[in-house]
Amino acid sequence: MSEHTSISENWKKISHEVAECAIACGRNPDSVTIIAVSKMHPLHAITHAWEAGARVFGENYAQEFRDKISEAQQSHFSPEWHFIGSLQSNKIKYIIPHASMIHSCSTISVAEEINRLSEKAGKRTDILIQINTSGEMSKSGIHPDAIQDYFEKIIELKYLRLRGLMTIPTATDDIKQLIKEFSQLRTLHEQVNGYIPEQQEWNVCSMGMSDDFSIAIQEGATHVRIGTAIFGARLY
Ligand SMILES: *Cc1c(COP(=O)(O)O)cnc(C)c1O
Repeated sequence: MSEHTSISENWKKISHEVAECAIACGRNPDSVTIIAVSKMHPLHAITHAWEAGARVFGENYAQEFRDKISEAQQSHFSPEWHFIGSLQSNKIKYIIPHASMIHSCSTISVAEEINRLSEKAGKRTDILIQINTSGEMSKSGIHPDAIQDYFEKIIELKYLRLRGLMTIPTATDDIKQLIKEFSQLRTLHEQVNGYIPEQQEWNVCSMGMSDDFSIAIQEGATHVRIGTAIFGARLY
């Protein structure tokens, strides 16, 4: 099978599964956005997914993100790009103003730098706060207990639009554990809603990847981030 055909078949299969899964738990299929995670895949793979119907793409690495976008712009291809990878303050200049949402905000310095560069670009940037639901020290993200404190420190940053939360759960196939972590994110999202100013549109829960998106949708994901199941294995 050609690369084009396999990506297009994969997209059809995954978008169908996501819709079926939403319907099975009484949700509107439109309430779940699929982010096609295209890190380490070339632009032509992304355009195959676009032709099949994918509209939102997620990238992890700041320089790769910048280079891919400039290549895309040369061919007048401008899908919606999200940045989902871990972030260092000095690389944020590569992703603003192109990222319409940044999923991985978890330090004050990153939030301040996104705010500063967004102001300079004359726009507000949608951000998600990454939460460490797994408790693993190696994972980035804020401890669930620290969310209110973090929030208070960034709420004054006017060029951020706080949209919701994101998590990467423990790498496990233990369904109970995954349910626990996803539902924790969902509960936290609802709790925080109580102290968010209304104009922020606090309505995004980004969770679920190729192997666990159906569980995440059951637990309330609004955005699932799917790479391997659409583009195939990544070559590192
Ligand atoms: C790579 C990545 C994904 C996609 O993972 P797959 O298992 O390939 O679907 C999702 N979210 C984040 C943060 C990633 O880094």
